[in-house]
Amino acid sequence: MNFFRKLKFLFTGTQLQFGLGILKEPSIITDIRRLDGRYTKVSAWRIFWFLTCALWRFPGIFDYKPDPSLRGMSELTYIILSLEERLKKVRRRGTKIVGKWPANPTDLYYGSGVIALDPFFAGYCRVLAEGSGRLTKQGRAQLSEDACPAQAAAYSIISDDIFPLDFFYPFIGPWCYDSQYCFEALRHKVNGDFGDHPVFNQREMKKASFEYMLSEVRRFIEKMEELTGRRVEPEQLRQEFIMENKLRRILREITGLTQINPPPINSLDLMLCVFISSDWLGDPEAALQTLSRIRDAAIKRIDRGEKGKNVADHPIRLLITGIAWGDLGLYNMLDELGGLIIGSECVYNLYYEDIDTTGDPVETLARRFLTTPYALTSERRAQWTVGNIRQAKQVDGVVFNCNFGCNYQAAEARIVTDIIKQETGLPCLITDVDLPKENRGQMRTRLEAFLEMIRHRQAQA
Ligand code: SF4
Repeated sequence: MNFFRKLKFLFTGTQLQFGLGILKEPSIITDIRRLDGRYTKVSAWRIFWFLTCALWRFPGIFDYKPDPSLRGMSELTYIILSLEERLKKVRRRGTKIVGKWPANPTDLYYGSGVIALDPFFAGYCRVLAEGSGRLTKQGRAQLSEDACPAQAAAYSIISDDIFPLDFFYPFIGPWCYDSQYCFEALRHKVNGDFGDHPVFNQREMKKASFEYMLSEVRRFIEKMEELTGRRVEPEQLRQEFIMENKLRRILREITGLTQINPPPINSLDLMLCVFISSDWLGDPEAALQTLSRIRDAAIKRIDRGEKGKNVADHPIRLLITGIAWGDLGLYNMLDELGGLIIGSECVYNLYYEDIDTTGDPVETLARRFLTTPYALTSERRAQWTVGNIRQAKQVDGVVFNCNFGCNYQAAEARIVTDIIKQETGLPCLITDVDLPKENRGQMRTRLEAFLEMIRHRQAQA
């Protein structure tokens, strides 16, 4: 990115819109966690300044077009890009940061008094922000040439001390083939443990699998108590469920807004909102304030009959299943072609329903693990998605995406899409992506053809 292009950008396009949005409401304050229970107020001006400087540090951001005129999007961009800095600060003050696998429930980590970090999401965000595949290539050289891009980037950001981590404790289930290996390979840098998520949850094994899962959750809590030197009280876990249920509800509301005509939020902004549920960017309270602003702003647009930026007049609504595209530019591309993402199966695993706040919270968490849709058999996972499609008012097609190197999704793709096609009659497209900006031309052609096929079917109906 040369100097003049940066300069031009600063006074046009996205940055100008961020600035105008903040001028309209200069008093916006976001409370950012300093230490458990204590917060620093971050003003809109500070966010504006941070984002302006971030454009110089992270030239990759120039390639994506979020909608800064949607109130809350500048704060969301801020909490994504400031994660590394904020984590380093809280860590210096003694809070422990623990690595997790994306679909593991965040309540367990925050409720145990530690900060959850999903290094796969953080790593891929860093790859996007840098605008080069450097971290992925470096991670692959250490792990394996066919490690998925998120795993490889996760390895690099921890190995190179870009993101801090005190301990890793992912729960390993019947989904990801690479994460154990990635965390294990990081032992030269950080210690950790693994939770075992049983696959034997057939009906006759229900009691045994529940008891096994319960003992695994208890073992995790004991380890966190050892790490922090503080006891984890059941009430603490319950309060975390209450807090995170608010976040889950807001995300379900935001996702539901894509069903309105005209849709007030575009594909990229929707995905940025839902992606953060994998660890709430180190700060569930700041995430709650930010997502509430986005939801409220989108609702105001509905009242004014205004659609999201770059959303087509009658978009073809697609559900993305498998692993959602990490290459954020593809969401912009889809909107340009007249499509719209209305939800993502993988991230929906984290917020599809509230966590029960009655009863023993440790038992509740054990049950939650066992019922995570991703942990079900392929057929039951597909049936869960079919149920979600039937509940939505408008879905015109389904994209199943696989990340390069992800054997789990590649093996599931045909089974899941066959069941979806059979049960709903919806057309399905299987895609695969690796590094950002790779194969965009080929992807454009495939998406164009897929959308055209859906339009043709609709015209015939
Ligand atoms: S894309 Fe596949 S291999 Fe990569 S983290 Fe996700 S489940 Fe694991």
